[in-house]
Order: sequence, then structure tokens, then C-alpha cells
Amino acid sequence: MAKKRKSGGRSKGGKGNLGKVQCSSCGRLVPRDKAKRKTSYKTLVDFAIGKELRQSGTHIARVPFVKYYCVSCAIHRHHVKIRSEDDRKSR
Ligand SMILES: [Zn+2]
Repeated sequence: MAKKRKSGGRSKGGKGNLGKVQCSSCGRLVPRDKAKRKTSYKTLVDFAIGKELRQSGTHIARVPFVKYYCVSCAIHRHHVKIRSEDDRKSR
């Protein structure tokens, strides 16, 4: 069978099994190296209070929230795009 991608859509190389993560959107179990990782930062301070604090020069900590998406959810949410055969060759 023809191979669509040299890596098979994964980034593990010769590492073997790296475990699975659950998709944040649909709950599907995806290999960790295949899942699309999306980190968003949120502050635990309320927006109105945070704005005042920032103006007075206070440093407000950002808390990272990591989300993993399966390939179909990542495409549906436009985190990754479908690329043509020629585009897929470029990394
Ligand atoms: Zn999903």
C-alpha cells in the first residue's frame, strides 16, 4: 500500500510505544506522539481586577492548560490543515 507520510503522521522515530492520551474534544485515545498538542494560558485572577493590577505594575502568573486533540478534531478545529501531496513533503 502507498504510504501517505514518511512518519505515518507520528513523531516517535524509533522509540516504540510512548503511551496514549485522551482527546480533549471527543475522548478518543490517541498515541502521545500523534496527538496535536495545544497549550493555552489562563490567569486565575478575574479580568477586571487583573487589568487594574497590571496597570499598577503587578506581575500576574499565567497558568498553562495543555490540551491534546486527535487528528480529526484538530482538523475540525483548524489547528492543523489538510495539505496537498507536494506540501506534505515540506516540514
Ligand atoms: Zn478527538
